[in-house]
Amino acid sequence: MNAVEEQIKLYAKHLKIPTFAEYEEILRQTDPANGFSDLLLELMKAESASRQENQNRRRLRKAGFPYLKTMDEFDTKQLNGAVSSVFLQELGTCKFVQERQNIVMIGNPGRGKTHLAIALGLNACTQGFNVLFKNAATLSTELCEARDNYQLGRLERVLAKADLLILDELSYLSFNRHQSELLFKVISDRSEKSSTIVTTNLLFSKWTELFENTTMVAALIDRLTFRSHILDMNGESYRLKATMQKKS
Ligand code: ADP
Ligand code: MG
Repeated sequence: MNAVEEQIKLYAKHLKIPTFAEYEEILRQTDPANGFSDLLLELMKAESASRQENQNRRRLRKAGFPYLKTMDEFDTKQLNGAVSSVFLQELGTCKFVQERQNIVMIGNPGRGKTHLAIALGLNACTQGFNVLFKNAATLSTELCEARDNYQLGRLERVLAKADLLILDELSYLSFNRHQSELLFKVISDRSEKSSTIVTTNLLFSKWTELFENTTMVAALIDRLTFRSHILDMNGESYRLKATMQKKS
């Protein structure tokens, strides 16, 4: 490496434009007949693309998906016509995030609620939205711990930054008064400001079983269902069906 090349690498590092250090690669790909401005443009394009890619990767990591699932892998036919594929495609465009609408997916276990929530979250991530996936029980524990450690404000700010919050499995275990109040605040703070997806196995009429504070349940449902899409996903478990098919 000669002195000039070395300096280019140093400046590229200092100015945080790493693709400029790889200029030789871009030089090889551009027509030598092109002028200097063409080369500069190609360098800038490459730097911009690399930053975009890094941002996407960071956003995806921060979203905290437990695993990745896509809309393509989702078989709409399994929903027995209760939710049309056209409607799912529409949700997949993430207009609902842009318009700060919510989605509540109600259905028994194994119906693809988590799958669909992750797939929609992934689409939103790709479109540049900040997404946060949280298991509802885990979040309620985190909220309680944060409050005990005087860190609640910080956690609430992290949650507020998400354009889309996915609260998965607001179902199995019930929440005590403190937990339900903290969860309620998270949901009501988001109302009309940002989107929330909730997945649950309980019909709204059963939500009083979820929370100790029953008066809050009505207010919670009111906030959540305002400007929202309710997806009835009840039916035969996909997992069970797949297992049975394998056996027969
Ligand atoms: P739920 O959250 O409703 O309990 P999951 O999303 O965890 O269900 O789904 C269970 C498994 O079945 C996952 O591996 C998921 O990918 C698969 N699955 C469920 N429904 C569908 C579907 N309609 N199309 C494709 N895979 C599905
Ligand atoms: Mg699930």
